[in-house]
Amino acid sequence: MTRIGGAGELFGTNGVRGIANEELTADMALNLGRVIGTMRKGRIAVATDARISSQMLKCAVLAGITSVGSDAVDLGVAPTPALQYYVKETNATGGVIVTASHNPREYNGIKFVHSDGTEFTREMDEESERIYKSKEFRTARWNEVGQIFSSECNRFYIDGVKERVDVDLIVSRKFRVVVDCGNGAACFTSPQLLKELGCEVISINAHPDGSFPQRNPEPEEKNVGFLKEVVKQVSADLGIAHDGDADRATFVDEKGNFISEDVMLALMAKYYVTMKGGGKVVTPVSSSKCVEDAVNGAGGEIVYTAVGSPVVVKVMKEVNAVFGGEGNGGLIFPEFQLTRDGAMSAAKVLELMASEQKPISELVKDIPKYYTLKEKLPCRDKLKLLTGLKEEFPKANFTDGARLDYDDGWILIRPSGTEPIVRVFAEAKSPDKAKELLEKGIQSVKKILG
Ligand code: MG
Repeated sequence: MTRIGGAGELFGTNGVRGIANEELTADMALNLGRVIGTMRKGRIAVATDARISSQMLKCAVLAGITSVGSDAVDLGVAPTPALQYYVKETNATGGVIVTASHNPREYNGIKFVHSDGTEFTREMDEESERIYKSKEFRTARWNEVGQIFSSECNRFYIDGVKERVDVDLIVSRKFRVVVDCGNGAACFTSPQLLKELGCEVISINAHPDGSFPQRNPEPEEKNVGFLKEVVKQVSADLGIAHDGDADRATFVDEKGNFISEDVMLALMAKYYVTMKGGGKVVTPVSSSKCVEDAVNGAGGEIVYTAVGSPVVVKVMKEVNAVFGGEGNGGLIFPEFQLTRDGAMSAAKVLELMASEQKPISELVKDIPKYYTLKEKLPCRDKLKLLTGLKEEFPKANFTDGARLDYDDGWILIRPSGTEPIVRVFAEAKSPDKAKELLEKGIQSVKKILG
């Protein structure tokens, strides 16, 4: 089975992912339902994104959950953070989200959520995989089969976001905002939330359509050209784009320029550290140095983790972080919930703009500018590479691959978890220095691997 970004055999870093009806089938969804119904006996909430195969997979998951004697709550189509908030705030014993997030249209996925609303940890996924393979499901007699209830979480989620932002302040500014829902789950939440925040809302790609007729669900710069154009045409204050399950948001400034995800992460991290008068910000080792600079400058402290949101969340819990996130538009607001949250990101950016009374393009100017370069090299022997790197750079940060920090930049040499390749990242304050560091990283890999 083709998996995206995983270490387990079936469960990757984002649950189970694959091409719908080929690699991720209704049979598998049925057994995955049985797995969570066995592990989290009680009442399990299930929601989906807007993909074509999501209904099919959801029905199989519901059947699986109830067949082992747990109850299921069908929440319909909802963003991943809305499902997570519902699980956290109600007596649900677990959750399942059927989504392939930002992956192309043919994919789908199934991800499990713990009773506190956070994604399953690596250890929980390993246990899930063990039960899936051994088929050690609980059994239920005819009169013990679970029931399926329906409920909704989108209204509940919108209210939850509003409770944690300064609504009156945002409303007073009457922002004009363009939101690109990407024909995904955000259609059911973000336009409504923004309206209730007093914005004049222009929504695009705002009907759910799993064929993704307008753009790929990944909200990266190359996919949001239309949003950039509309922001300029209507003289909006901000443009917002979501991925397919709306746990991420990316932004376009009032001039129609895409704002790099790392820069937004740095800006929000700085906002939180300033607001809290210090504190720890958690981010993977692959994040731009601009995040660390912004956090340090505001009197906070950066904590680096391996790549992947479950580990970021785990460390945020451990160090009682004030903020966290990844450099892909996934921002985590611990006072709301420990998960990436697209709608909360949008609301908090508006709150920052309202409180600073500056356009977003002015606010991001304060974030230090870096140049990033990336290269992929073949790597069939990860152990040899990592051992060699430890010998050559004993002082490097080995949280995930090897990160070498210099005064004016850094290199990350990170073998892929799923493919026989190693990625080399380099970042510096000038393009020339970034090139020099990238070359240094590449040469080190070649020297070690021979
Ligand atoms: Mg996502």
